[in-house]
Amino acid sequence: MGLLEGCKGLVFGIANDRSIACHIAQAVLQEKAVCGFPHLPGEKNERRVRKALEGIGVTDPWLLPCDVSKDEDLDAVFASVRERFDAIDFVVHSLAFADRAYLKPGRFAETPREVFAQALDISAYSLVAIAQRAKAMMPRNGSILAMTYFGAEKAVPGYNVMGVAKAALEACTRYLALELGESGIRVNTISAGPIKTLSAMAVGGIDEIFEWVAKKAPLRRNIHAGEVGKTAVYLLSDLSGGVTGQNVFVDAGYNIVGL
Ligand code: NAD
Repeated sequence: MGLLEGCKGLVFGIANDRSIACHIAQAVLQEKAVCGFPHLPGEKNERRVRKALEGIGVTDPWLLPCDVSKDEDLDAVFASVRERFDAIDFVVHSLAFADRAYLKPGRFAETPREVFAQALDISAYSLVAIAQRAKAMMPRNGSILAMTYFGAEKAVPGYNVMGVAKAALEACTRYLALELGESGIRVNTISAGPIKTLSAMAVGGIDEIFEWVAKKAPLRRNIHAGEVGKTAVYLLSDLSGGVTGQNVFVDAGYNIVGL
C-alpha cells in the first residue's frame, strides 16, 4: 500500500529528467498516486517531458500543455482534469522563469520593469492562479506544494530578481494557506538546496554556490533531487496532515549556518 494510494494530482514543471518535478513525480508515483503532467507547450518540450517520464517508467503519460502565464491555458488544464477526475488531492508547482541576462552577480539593480513583472508573474502569481482553479476540485481536503530557494530570504549573488519572486511565492503560500485552510486545503513550500537543473544553470556563479554549500552546510554536501521527492511525499500525504503555510528546508542544513 502506497502513502498516496487513491490520490490524484498534477505535477507542473517537468522539463527534462533533471527537473525537480521529475524526481517528485517519481516519488509520488512510487507511492501509487495517479498524475497528470502540465508542461510548457511546444513539440520539443513535449518530447523531452515524454522522455523524462519514460525514464521513470511512465510509458503513456497524461501530458497537458500549459504556459502558466496564460489564463486560457490554465483553464484548459483544469477543464481536462474535470473531465477525467471528479476531484484531485494534490498539485505540485515546480516551475519558475526569469530572464537569465539579469541573473548575474551585480545586475539586480539593472532589472527592467518587464523582466521583473514576468519573473513575478510566472514564478509567483502562477501559484495563486493554479490554487484558485484547484480549490474547486479539492472538496475533500488537498495539498498544494511549491518549490522555493534560500535566495528568497537572503541576498544570494546572481539569484537577483528570482529571489524577489521566491519571496513573493513564499508570501503567497502563507496567504493561500490562511484562506484555503477552511476548505481543508494545505499549502506549503520546499526550499531546496542547489541542484543541477536547467534553471539552476541559468544563475550566474552557480558553480561557486555548489562548492560553498558542499563545504559549509552541516551535512558537508549538496542535496540529491530524490531527497526533495521524499519530502514532497511527506507534504502531499496525510503524514503532514497538520502542516500548512510552512517552508520546509531540504538543503543539507545550509540555512541554519550563520558564519
Ligand atoms: P527546471 O528548469 O527543470 O524546471 C523549471 C520548469 O519551469 C521547467 O519545466 C519549465 O518549462 C517551467 N516553466 C518556465 N516557464 C514556464 C511557463 N511560463 N509555463 C509553464 N512552465 C514554465 O528547473 P528546476 O530546478 O527543476 O526548477 C523547478 C523549481 O524548483 C523552480 O521553482 C525552481 O526555482 C525551484 N528550485 C530549484 C533549485 C535548484 O537548485 N535547481 C533550488 C531551489 C528551488
